[in-house]
Amino acid sequence: MLLFTPGPTPVPEKARVAMAGETIHHRTPEFTKIFNETRELLFNLLKTDEVVLIASTGTGAMEACVTNLCHKKALTVNAGKFGQRFTKICDSFNLPYIELTYEWDTPADAEEIVKTVKENPDIDALFIQICESAGGLRHPVEEIAAKVKAERADIMVVADGITAVGVEPIDIENIDALITGSQKALMLPPGLSMIGLSQKAVEKIGKGKGFYFNLASEIKKQREGTTAYTAATTLIIGLREILKEIEELGLDTLYDLTDKRALATRVALEAIGLSIYPKKPANAMTAIIDEEAEKIRKILKTKYGVNVAGGQDHLKGRLFRINHMGLIEPYEAAWVVNAVEKALEELGRLKYEGKANRVFNEIYFRIDL
Ligand SMILES: *Cc1c(COP(=O)(O)O)cnc(C)c1O
Repeated sequence: MLLFTPGPTPVPEKARVAMAGETIHHRTPEFTKIFNETRELLFNLLKTDEVVLIASTGTGAMEACVTNLCHKKALTVNAGKFGQRFTKICDSFNLPYIELTYEWDTPADAEEIVKTVKENPDIDALFIQICESAGGLRHPVEEIAAKVKAERADIMVVADGITAVGVEPIDIENIDALITGSQKALMLPPGLSMIGLSQKAVEKIGKGKGFYFNLASEIKKQREGTTAYTAATTLIIGLREILKEIEELGLDTLYDLTDKRALATRVALEAIGLSIYPKKPANAMTAIIDEEAEKIRKILKTKYGVNVAGGQDHLKGRLFRINHMGLIEPYEAAWVVNAVEKALEELGRLKYEGKANRVFNEIYFRIDL
C-alpha cells in the first residue's frame, strides 16, 4: 500500500534501519554526541537562533508556544482544524484571545490581521499555520509576519510549520517560533516535535511557563547536549539520519522536487476535470474538493493500493488530500494520479485515457522550474 496521506508519511529505509538499533541510555556521552549532531543539523534546516526538541506530537509544541510566548492576549487564525487548535489551546489555559476565522480554502488577510493588532494593544502573540493542512491551504505568513512586526515589533509571531518545514523554503526573518513535527515532511514516526526560536523569543520565554512544556528548562538542558526529561532517543536517532539524508541531497533540491511533484499533481488532476480546493494551494499536499471523494478514496485503496486522506468536519466526505511531503519517487506520484483517473472511470465520469499520468510526466520531466 502506498501511504499518500499528508502525515504520517513513509519512513525511508535508512531511518528505519538506524532506529532498529539497541536502545541506549539518554544520559550518556554516546547519546549526547547524537543529540548534539542532530541539533546542529536542525539549526541548518530551521535557520533560527535557537532550537528545541520535545517528546510530543506537533500539538505539544503548539501548546508550548502558547503557554511560553503569549502572556496577555493571543491572536489566532482559524482557517481549518489546526488554526482552530491554537484557539482551543488558549481556551484550555483561560488565555484571552481574538480569533479571526476564514473559510478553509481562503488565505488569511494580512490587512485584517494588522488592523486587529492595531485595535488591540494587548495582543502579544500571533498564531498561524504556514500550511493549514485541513484544506491544503498556504497562508501568506511571511507577508503577515513582516506587516505585524512593522506595526508592533514586540508581538511574537508563532508559525506552525508542521506541513511547511522540509517542504519549501521559509523566510524566518519575522518569525519568532517555527514549529514542526516528526511525522510529516521529516518522514519519521509520530512522537517528536521541534521548535525553532528567535533570540527575541528566547528572551520572552525567560524562566518559562508550565512544567513538562517549559521551554526555558528545555533550552537550558539542550544547550548542554541533553533534554530536561527522558529524550525520545529512538526518534532522535531517526531524525539525525533524515537530516543527514536531506543535507546530502541538498535542501534546495528537496524543495524543488516537492514543488515539481505538487505542480505536476495539481495540473494532472485538473486535466481530468477535478477541482483544487484551496484558493492558494500549499506544496505539502493537493486537496481536491469532490462530492464523490469517499468513493474515490475507497477505490484508490481497494483496487490501486493507494491510501490518501479525506476531509474533516464540514468537508468530511467531500475532500481528498494527496501528500507531497518527503522523498517520494515520481513513479509513485504518477501512479497516484493514474489511479485517480481509473477511479473516475469506474464511477462513470470519464473514459480512461492515461491522461493524468501523461500530464504528470510531461510536467515533472520536461518543465524547467
Ligand atoms: C499534523 C499537524 C499538526 C500536529 O498534529 P499532531 O497530531 O499533534 O502531530 C499541527 N499543525 C498542522 C498544520 C498539522 O498538519
